[in-house]
Amino acid sequence: MRIATLGFHHETNTFQSVKTDYDSFANFEFLRGSEIADRHATSKFTLAGYFQSAQMFEFDLVPLLFAFTGPTGTITKDTFDRISEEMIDKLKQNGPWDGVLLAQHGAAVTEEYPDMDGEISRRVREVVGPDTPVVMTLDLHCNITQDQVANTDAIVVFRTNPHLDAVERAVEASEILVKTIRGEVRPVQHLVQVPMMINIVKQPTGFGPMKEIMDEVHQVLEKPGVLSASCGQGFPYADVDQMGVSFLVVTDGDAVKAEKQAKLLARKAWDLRAELQNDSPSIEESISRAMNASSDGKPTAIMDVGDNVGGGGTADSTHLLAEATSQGLSGDKSLLLTLFDPTNVQVCISAGVGSTITLKVGAGTDRLHGEPIEVTANIRAITDGKFEEPKPTHGGLRFFDYGPSVALDTEAGHTIVLHTVRGIGNMSREQYYSIGIRPEEYRVIICKGTVSPRAAYEPISREIIMANSPGVTSANMSSFSYENRRTPLYPFELDTTFD
Ligand SMILES: [Zn+2]
Repeated sequence: MRIATLGFHHETNTFQSVKTDYDSFANFEFLRGSEIADRHATSKFTLAGYFQSAQMFEFDLVPLLFAFTGPTGTITKDTFDRISEEMIDKLKQNGPWDGVLLAQHGAAVTEEYPDMDGEISRRVREVVGPDTPVVMTLDLHCNITQDQVANTDAIVVFRTNPHLDAVERAVEASEILVKTIRGEVRPVQHLVQVPMMINIVKQPTGFGPMKEIMDEVHQVLEKPGVLSASCGQGFPYADVDQMGVSFLVVTDGDAVKAEKQAKLLARKAWDLRAELQNDSPSIEESISRAMNASSDGKPTAIMDVGDNVGGGGTADSTHLLAEATSQGLSGDKSLLLTLFDPTNVQVCISAGVGSTITLKVGAGTDRLHGEPIEVTANIRAITDGKFEEPKPTHGGLRFFDYGPSVALDTEAGHTIVLHTVRGIGNMSREQYYSIGIRPEEYRVIICKGTVSPRAAYEPISREIIMANSPGVTSANMSSFSYENRRTPLYPFELDTTFD
């Protein structure tokens, strides 16, 4: 049994001013053939699950191409053409195939295609024909579409946020594919798109209304004949018609059951719609809550929701640092944060470890993310910004590269790590350990993310506060001008109805 695997993985924040070009993928992760196993066979990402499945279910997995970069702006037409053509050529040239396993994200937007994942699945189907099963995995932040459903035999979506189940979902997808090839099951999928969005601060699956929804998804999974059940939370920063919440149920040959169960889940989410919206505290309130927290030796972690690097944030917002400074947060190890600041990293490398230096840090991208802040600091350490995280973190990545990085201890008692690659937010504590910092020892930690840092910071924090900070990933949805989203859509149109 020969099965191809390939992926073109991107979460597109269409509100970002900088477009995503070919080099964004080439410089981040662009893997061909055996490079895919080298990078991912031991990761906790989807592809690792495909490699494990090849052994469990005894098939030959042929990795063809995997292109991935952090969440950035709309993918240019030229980039899409070059990457998709290489993918499709490899699929054509190395066939015939018994099946295809796709590793997509589900919220990719190109200049030409608002539903890039639908277009990729269409092109894959065109090559392999209607009789070769195609199964696709998606990130929970996907905007699932009818095109994606029409061009695949089954779609399986992550069920945890932070995403800790990529490997399990890949195994689930592989099992459906193998059983389909053997003729043991005949997957039928039904998609219901609900006219609502879930605010980013309500997307964690471990508590609150989102947990209630996922509990219901798990109940559907227990029903006989159900092969898979998924919620697509939607990626709110993609200004496309497809943006929003959806539910997909895959059954073994029973279209009526798939439709009924998907509708049941959609109704559950719709009934909870008011609880799934933004109620996060202002930056003033967030800092003051953290400063007034009892000192039980554990840090308070503040999520910088407006600068959620995992959602397209610039990684250099200074709004929370400015607020902490203005409220007088100071003292040894009082505050810890990272900022993307390549210019100042070069200045610090020239000055050398141990020097004291005065710099204006952060906010180098635009004024939406604050003003550069003047600090006088001692240069504690300089590293290459590369580290490995063997434990599962959000998305299951193992190898991280933030580029040359510098740790600064400021006169106010803050520690700021400046880095040179925007990276993917503060997803691993190894980011600090690798530069000689123990985040456990700090009073307040600012994390550039909304949900993704939780897996790393929940275990060491007394509390997690999701701050309603300004920025390109703000939870305040009225700060964005949508032109292409569908209408009506709750909560933008509060009188939206759903039958
Ligand atoms: Zn995600």
